[in-house]
Amino acid sequence: MSDNEPTDFIRQIISDDIAAGKHNGRVVTRFPPEPNGFLHVGHAKSICLNFGVAEEHSGQTFLRFDDTNPGRESEEYVEAIKADVRWLGFDWQDRLTHASDYFDQLFAAAVKLIEMDKAYVDSLSAEEIREYRGTLTEPGANSPHRERSIEENLALFRRMQEGEFEDGAHVLRAKIDMASPNMNMRDPTLYRIRKTPHQNTGDKWNIYPMYDFAHGLSDAFEGITHSLCTLEFEDHRPLYDWFLDQLVPQHRPQQIEFSRLNLAYALTSKRKLNALVDNGVVNGWDDPRLATIAGMRRRGYPPEALRDFIGRVGVTKKENLIEMGVLENSVREFLGSEAPRRMAVIKPLKVTITNYPQGQTEQMVAMNHPANAEFGTREMPFSREIYVEQDDFMEDAPRKFFRLRPGGEVRLRFAYIIRCDDVIKDDAGNVVELRCSYDPDTKSGTASSDRKVKGTIHWVSAQHAVAAEVRLYDRLFSVPNPGSYDDVLPHLNPRSLEIADARLEPALAVADRSYQFERLGYFSPDAVDYSAQKPVFNRIVTLRDSWAKLEKQAMAEM
Ligand code: ATP
Ligand code: MG
Repeated sequence: MSDNEPTDFIRQIISDDIAAGKHNGRVVTRFPPEPNGFLHVGHAKSICLNFGVAEEHSGQTFLRFDDTNPGRESEEYVEAIKADVRWLGFDWQDRLTHASDYFDQLFAAAVKLIEMDKAYVDSLSAEEIREYRGTLTEPGANSPHRERSIEENLALFRRMQEGEFEDGAHVLRAKIDMASPNMNMRDPTLYRIRKTPHQNTGDKWNIYPMYDFAHGLSDAFEGITHSLCTLEFEDHRPLYDWFLDQLVPQHRPQQIEFSRLNLAYALTSKRKLNALVDNGVVNGWDDPRLATIAGMRRRGYPPEALRDFIGRVGVTKKENLIEMGVLENSVREFLGSEAPRRMAVIKPLKVTITNYPQGQTEQMVAMNHPANAEFGTREMPFSREIYVEQDDFMEDAPRKFFRLRPGGEVRLRFAYIIRCDDVIKDDAGNVVELRCSYDPDTKSGTASSDRKVKGTIHWVSAQHAVAAEVRLYDRLFSVPNPGSYDDVLPHLNPRSLEIADARLEPALAVADRSYQFERLGYFSPDAVDYSAQKPVFNRIVTLRDSWAKLEKQAMAEM
């Protein structure tokens, strides 16, 4: 058990329950995804919460697939969800279950409710059921079928299961209260006919339970003590409790609701994500621009950073929209101390060092981390032709531009000071090459190297460089709350992906982790497309929160 003070209201409730000896002091939670899509950052919050609170109290967590909607769900999604939970760092051990594992028990529970005269078969159409339900301001009306005899209900329910009726002909409903102020209590549907085979149970069932009915009972069957869910289920809690009171009064899991995580500029709805994938707007569920767990993993977000972010967001009942910068800061902070430094030029400009001997190569010693000597050093070849970043040269530079300009000097990191002597242009006037000279007395790390210039830039040796595709990502959407639009397509950021033809230092020829490309950001080899023959890197995040900077600039100009 943790000695720490509870950090949120759910952890407080759980601590209090343990102190009071409720559930014999046990903590059993579950994460119950519907396998109808990949998980997103919002699910990460639920996963960290459910697995986290159980871990903190040596409890247990079930990974339970809520597979009550055959046809919408698939094994591909089941496998993807398992991979995502594992990658986040959590282990369900032998507690992998499905709502469909309980279909027999759920059927028996429904029969029991009928026998208690607390459920009936209704033969109204879906439309009629809607009309009879009433509105928020008007009570509903009892269905004409509500007073069927127990025997008739039992017989009809069995015949529904045996496949005698078509989809929609009947439903099984709980008999609660058509006048309840809570719409969920107005005789909710327990079972509907769906003559669709199920990925786990094949064609055994012609009827499938509704989520509310299956969920609470599955919680009870598994001995869940705290059933943590998002706020939209608050109004369902009386129903959750009603099912348990009728059917398993001896075990009472407690449902507790918390607010969903919404992330600015990201979509957190499987349905809407699915539409983007189907439309080909993104390259699959693991497109690095998506806030899916698979997308964030492919982009190179470390799981530690994601968990850190979830911890920072916290657990409350307040609806919120979290800035992307908060997540990116967690990523930067983790990679800042964990990622080795390398040099890469993503928009190369050739530089010839005219006074450097033809054919000569020198090995420069480069630190792998500026603050942690344990990362060690590596050698970087230096030669007469190098690449620097196009942005590090300006022909008509403002006074405070401390990089390369005609006649100006700059230090090449871990190498020499060079001076720009000539600017070569193509016919269209584009700068295509710089002719520079180096000062041999300024080699980094040597006693004579203390001559100072204001700017230091990164570089790679042209002859030794590795060509690579570098994918530069930006926000996928141009609006902070894409989830609030039915059609998000008009709100896509047309520049969400830019592909750069980069040159990398040779130490990056074999890349098996994430790196900081000095001055550019953090990058990781793409899990799908990277190969030693064709290196492909994703930009995980820039070094600074460029969006915050832009916003500040905009403010200053106002
Ligand atoms: P979606 O709209 O993306 O399909 P969902 O809630 O229908 O989301 P489920 O597969 O049913 O998806 O979710 C599994 C669990 O994850 C549920 O307990 C749900 O409350 C939780 N969850 C889903 N989205 C979020 C979110 N944005 N923030 C926190 N928890 C979430
Ligand atoms: Mg759902």
